[in-house]
Amino acid sequence: MAFDYDLFVIGGGSGGVRAARVAASETGAKVALAEEDRYGGTCVIRGCVPKKLMVFASEFSRLTSDAAGYGWDIPEGTFDWIAFRTRLHAELDRLEGVYRRLLKNAGVETFDSRATLVDAHTVRLANGDTKTARHILVATGGHPTVPDVEGAELAITSNDIFHLDALPDSILIVGGGFIACEFACILTGMGVKVTQFYRGSQILRGFDDEARDLVAEEMMRKGVDLRVNINVAKMESDGDAIHVTDTEGGTATYSKVLFATGRDPNTKGLNLEPLGVRLKKNGAVEVDAYSQTAVPSIYAIGDVTDRWNLTPVAIREGMAFVDTVFRGKPTPVDHELIPSAVFTQPELGTVGITEAEATEPVEIYATTFRPMQTAFIGADDRVLMKLVVSKETRRVLGCHIVAPNAGEMIQLAGIAVKMGATKEDFDRTVAVHPTMSEEIVTMRTAVRGA
Ligand code: NDP
Repeated sequence: MAFDYDLFVIGGGSGGVRAARVAASETGAKVALAEEDRYGGTCVIRGCVPKKLMVFASEFSRLTSDAAGYGWDIPEGTFDWIAFRTRLHAELDRLEGVYRRLLKNAGVETFDSRATLVDAHTVRLANGDTKTARHILVATGGHPTVPDVEGAELAITSNDIFHLDALPDSILIVGGGFIACEFACILTGMGVKVTQFYRGSQILRGFDDEARDLVAEEMMRKGVDLRVNINVAKMESDGDAIHVTDTEGGTATYSKVLFATGRDPNTKGLNLEPLGVRLKKNGAVEVDAYSQTAVPSIYAIGDVTDRWNLTPVAIREGMAFVDTVFRGKPTPVDHELIPSAVFTQPELGTVGITEAEATEPVEIYATTFRPMQTAFIGADDRVLMKLVVSKETRRVLGCHIVAPNAGEMIQLAGIAVKMGATKEDFDRTVAVHPTMSEEIVTMRTAVRGA
């Protein structure tokens, strides 16, 4: 049977664009891609990229006071949200243009349209046109979810935060994950009075406990009113503000409420299940190690599969898909030892297992200290360097860093951990002095487990 295309990709985010582009330009496949929103997807348009630019913007807030400690006399300024937002959106427009051009130059035909599945080889565009393809790749990503509480519709999500007409005077951020913690820090830096509610006993569940504790401590020290074991019970509109009743019976009024309470895969209405594609309870597409669904011609990558919901992972899944399907080189996706970072202030960088996750005897090497740059001016900022080491093999099983630029540090430490470096390999690496990260190679004595 002749198909219109070798590959039809649904979704123009990081994973979908990479798979489409590489399949078309490097394997000669005839490829089409449909995107109903903006090209670049969550990462570029409403996630990693604008978030990181907001992190940069917010970090300037302590510049004048820190500089004063170093002898500079810089007058205190104010933050102009509209000026920043205008530049931010110009940058996002530029990046979207780059994504569109990449696809065009690779010879991918694009449709600015929603696409849904008709059968194992056919998709339908919003205008009713149908297209056939030998393979279909679902890369539709995810969306923020909002809990089912009274008045939830009054709240915003991370999708809205980049479009605010003005920064609120105060905000309640609900959640204790990546997004909640990152925006608590960003908005505090921008001068917003931030309260954060987390329903459990400590934020950043799943990360190393010592790292979580230090991030929480530093966030509170910098002004986030972080409250744990608490949630929103109900919300009511109060003029331009929102009146919140919490689960402890307390009430308070905030200019805005932001729900950062998780994300769900975008599979609704795609018609996947009737075709035989299996979905998990949260709607995520079930795939095997090659990103293949229960229907052999349909594959899925990225957040829609809810494996590791990170851009670089979606990109790798896209590349592995192209190798498997278009290069005849079956390539399972390697999800082992993925380094990642939470862009709080300070950042948390992590790779491998946490101390609590160890299933074999381990030694813990850890140090917290006041880094030179801020200690010099009398600031109390603290950082953490921590290694989880197998007693038996001596391999570094986990590395956890809480520090400014921990994201940059963990990228490099991640190479060593991925290569299977032992504690002794770390020890024989000469320190770069004076840096914060030198401590990662100078910790001589285990603090636990020795
Ligand atoms: P997360 O799953 O990381 O966190 C969701 C948070 O909301 C958790 O603290 C969770 O609590 C809480 N929560 C869930 N349901 C409710 C509820 N009904 N009421 C109150 N609290 C609730 O999701 P995010 O939205 O922060 O991020 C989504 C994903 O996006 C991340 O997992 C990550 O993969 C990716 N991401 C990565 C970033 C990076 O790499 N720097 C940045 C941003 C996002 P509990 O812990 O109790 O379940």
